[in-house]
Amino acid sequence: MLCRLDLNEAVVQVELDAVDEAWAALEAVDRCAAQLGDAGLRAYALGTMGPLAWRVGSLQPPQTYYQRALAALGHRPARYKRAWLLDDLGWALMHGGQSVAARGPFEQVLALATEIADVSFMMRGHEGLAEVLLQQRDASGALQHARAALRLAAAHPGLRFREVTAQTQVVEALALLQRPELGAAIDKLRGMASRDPSARTAALIARSAARGYRALGRHDLAYAELERYLELTKSDAQAARERDAQRLQARYEATLREAENRELRHAAEHARLELAARAERQRALWALVLVLLAGLAGGGLFFGRALKRRRRLAELALRDELTGLPNRRAVLAFAREQFDLARRLDLPISLALVDLDHFKAVNDRHGHAAGDRVLQAFADAATHVVRGQDRIGRWGGEEWLLVMPGTRAAELPAVFDRLRQAMAEQRVPGLPHPHGVTFSMGTAERHAGIETLDALVAEADGHLYRAKAQGRDTLCGHSLSLVHSAAESVFQSA
Ligand code: GH3
Ligand code: MG
Ligand code: MG
Repeated sequence: MLCRLDLNEAVVQVELDAVDEAWAALEAVDRCAAQLGDAGLRAYALGTMGPLAWRVGSLQPPQTYYQRALAALGHRPARYKRAWLLDDLGWALMHGGQSVAARGPFEQVLALATEIADVSFMMRGHEGLAEVLLQQRDASGALQHARAALRLAAAHPGLRFREVTAQTQVVEALALLQRPELGAAIDKLRGMASRDPSARTAALIARSAARGYRALGRHDLAYAELERYLELTKSDAQAARERDAQRLQARYEATLREAENRELRHAAEHARLELAARAERQRALWALVLVLLAGLAGGGLFFGRALKRRRRLAELALRDELTGLPNRRAVLAFAREQFDLARRLDLPISLALVDLDHFKAVNDRHGHAAGDRVLQAFADAATHVVRGQDRIGRWGGEEWLLVMPGTRAAELPAVFDRLRQAMAEQRVPGLPHPHGVTFSMGTAERHAGIETLDALVAEADGHLYRAKAQGRDTLCGHSLSLVHSAAESVFQSA
């Protein structure tokens, strides 16, 4: 009875979007169930904590909770619950990159499901194994499992909505095997789109169809499907980002005002990321409410998806903590997207790598905190200088990457000048004015010989190196002569 109260508490906290409290309530359910010796309830609480683990900052990965839940079941048969937990465990391991370890759990799911004649879990077992085998490039094995799942779906009309995953696996396996029936398999997969009109399913279908077409050498069709996939996933990510932004604003502003000194600022940044994560959490938790209310049926489906969100949380952390600019991952993603676009449409695009000069000396002379303020000042200057379509991000330490779609090499000296002037005008608390901190810039415009973004970045990096060698406070780039001869930098190393 008392455990049920805790369970109700968990449901209520989830509804209120109080994740930490929901977590605490689930822990209480676990403790209480342990005291009562109610293994089923314990397993349920621990299994529910699995997909929440990373969201509340648990030091244990999700799989630990599924493993503990399974341990709680001990030798009891509880085959349905066990299959559910093993399925989650399998996918948690897959997402952790441990496909070899995931094989055992999925095999057990299949065996248990066969024992209790649960067709839905039999399909999941097959799908899990097909995924493991695809990861391990065992395409024939994957094909057998995916086809077994399809046969089950064909015989059970209520489960036909699950066919899509299995059919994508058939396509990917046939593509690896270069088998002639691939074309027909792709057509069948695309035909399934009408059955489940969700964007997620459509994206799944487009991605696998693209891989299939590529294997067939139909690059035009592969390309069209890939575009579709990018479009579908982009609007998904965009919508999530907009929702996050709205939710964040109100709560975050209050937090920021209090965060005056450095220590507090770090706490606030932490809170900001936490809040960003919370928006994501909120969506997952609404689904959790449904699961709790609806009982265990369908639980596995939710948890499988909830874990996929783990990756998306990482994507939310796209800002550099200190400066608020896009971090390396974010600016790199933008650069990749723009580079691919420019290459496809044969448009100009330029990159600039910027590195502050003698920055170590700034730290040494004025302290690390003042160094941080210089970085913030640079970010501030850059934000005002870059144009709407451009983006600058922190590449690392005191290095920055500026991505300029549509910009030609000839325009880069003007960019450098604007940024140089904006930086010189910045006032940096703790440093005299003018502060004298300069930077060097290496640039590269995409040209015929450049096939990849990495190559373009490498070219800019080479020019940056030259700019440093030529005395700093300078721009270097392909076919650009030295633009600024190095003025005496205040921070020449001793
Ligand atoms: P160069 O002109 O050749 O680029 O000289 P440099 O001193 O700028 O280059 P170096 O790579 O030797 O030193 C970079 C310094 O930047 C060292 C590191 O301690 C400092 N740094 C990196 N990240 C931060 C940060 O977030 N805050 C502060 N204050 N300093 C940082
Ligand atoms: Mg550096
Ligand atoms: Mg430097």
